[in-house]
Amino acid sequence: MLCNKCNKEEALIHIRGVDAQGNVHTISICASCAIKALMSEELNASEIAGLMKSGAMPKPDVMMKIIDSLMRQTGLESERLEDVDGACTNCGLQRVELRRELLLGCPECLDCFDSDIRSHLGLKDDFVYNETEVPESEQESTGDDAKSGQVAFHALNTRLQAAVQAEEYELAATLKDELESRLREINRLRQSGSNCDWGARKIKDHFALPDRAQNNLPWLPKRPDGQGLIRLASLLFGNYNLSGFELPPFRNKPAQSNDISALLAAFLRREPIFGQSREYVPAEMEKTARLELTERGWCPHEFIARKHATRLFVSENERVIALLNDIDHLRINLWGAAEELPLMLRHLQDFTDNLRGTFDLQSHPKFGRISRHLNSLGSGMGLGQLMHLPALTYDGRIEALVRACRDMGFNLRGLFRQNEKTGAALYILQSKDSLLPPGQYLERFLELSRSMARHEQLCRQMFQSHKENRLILTDNIGRAVGTLKGASLLSFEEAEYLLSALWLGVEMGMLPWLDIRKVLAKITELLTLPANIADKQNSFADRIQIRRNLAISFKKDLLGMEEE
Ligand SMILES: [Zn+2]
Ligand SMILES: [Zn+2]
Repeated sequence: MLCNKCNKEEALIHIRGVDAQGNVHTISICASCAIKALMSEELNASEIAGLMKSGAMPKPDVMMKIIDSLMRQTGLESERLEDVDGACTNCGLQRVELRRELLLGCPECLDCFDSDIRSHLGLKDDFVYNETEVPESEQESTGDDAKSGQVAFHALNTRLQAAVQAEEYELAATLKDELESRLREINRLRQSGSNCDWGARKIKDHFALPDRAQNNLPWLPKRPDGQGLIRLASLLFGNYNLSGFELPPFRNKPAQSNDISALLAAFLRREPIFGQSREYVPAEMEKTARLELTERGWCPHEFIARKHATRLFVSENERVIALLNDIDHLRINLWGAAEELPLMLRHLQDFTDNLRGTFDLQSHPKFGRISRHLNSLGSGMGLGQLMHLPALTYDGRIEALVRACRDMGFNLRGLFRQNEKTGAALYILQSKDSLLPPGQYLERFLELSRSMARHEQLCRQMFQSHKENRLILTDNIGRAVGTLKGASLLSFEEAEYLLSALWLGVEMGMLPWLDIRKVLAKITELLTLPANIADKQNSFADRIQIRRNLAISFKKDLLGMEEE
């Protein structure tokens, strides 16, 4: 199972404790998060000692990993020891913290840690972000009405903050009314202008099995491709912060998170990009329902556990997701097919223009749009593509590919951390940072992903035509089927690998009895499981039962085998 904190690494330590009311709480964390917790004193030493005594002592191999990770961590720390001092004069963020998390505490961090940020992003001294992408004419098309609306809004916002600070709540309430009517007005102005409705467009999923309650995950392919299902989906995202408000996690002004949430929600509800949106407030939801939001892949696990106000918007077709007050005030994700990226970008730019026409966004003269993650400074936008590359993986070519992508300024990495271990061949190709507006590298990116897909196809052809290569393939896929047939227990990692192998087998025409739709449905089912059953992994017997159930459902749904 995944770590409860970062949700990325495999959890190695499962800590169970009983509170004063006698409720049992379980937390599962990975080695590096455990170290972080120790170092930042989130957990104090006596708590840890208590936990260890209470019988939750990690196994020896786990202990070794912790020690190993601790050694590496201290090695790194000591190398940088000479210049780790220093904190942001405004928010108090420590230099070490910034280097570890890559997250800003406040806009002033940009000036306090200027050299660290430039060295992380590989920038020269004289770097200035230049948004040359938006032509002058387009910028003006926002219209005078919207422009003056924005100025008025900003002034109002500043007055509102001042009133709240001076504890003049009556005045604040009046201003707030004014603010809301202002928002309504601006929304009316804008409504006719935009026809960018990415989230409202009807999409037909050609791989959906009939009578399924659950839609396939947004990043799984939706229609057949003569070349094989290699380039699965595109992701485009934007991060935004509104001027006049503190950045999340709102340490000094927790009430601001509510204001932001309300303001942005009012805006998003009218945005054509969502169509008929669904709106979720995690803090007001039952635990199971809350977990479902992460299970659907709409938000990270941390999002539903944040202490400040958060909100989630899901578009009509589930291809546009907005997170309020996650890492930034607003994060918006757009999903689409591989070649739809340019169209998606137009829709996101239009959305951004609307947002800018309504709110004043935080930016920095040198680093461009302010986003808390250093890799999103500049344009605040980034993109990626999900790919299934099993033939290249079996052929041992991924490492070379990773290097080639890096040379071109892009990152290629496994979708799951366990990729390297098990060989589930799902990858994400993505932009490294946001220092260029997406329009400036979009074509280069698409060309790279097309060429990778061609390589994967060539590799598949080679596996077909050469006897030795064909044996490698037959062996891998045959063993996958064999493993599944004989399995009484199935772990997540194994299940991921098997699905990837079966998927290739179907596409290579080797498993005519298996329907690709069943494979894709199973991937959705598998990846939406963990959050749901995380709480039940308390005992050895439970863990075995989960693996047992997984094996039974896989054999039944994919091989048609009934349990005797
Ligand atoms: Zn972790
Ligand atoms: Zn700061």
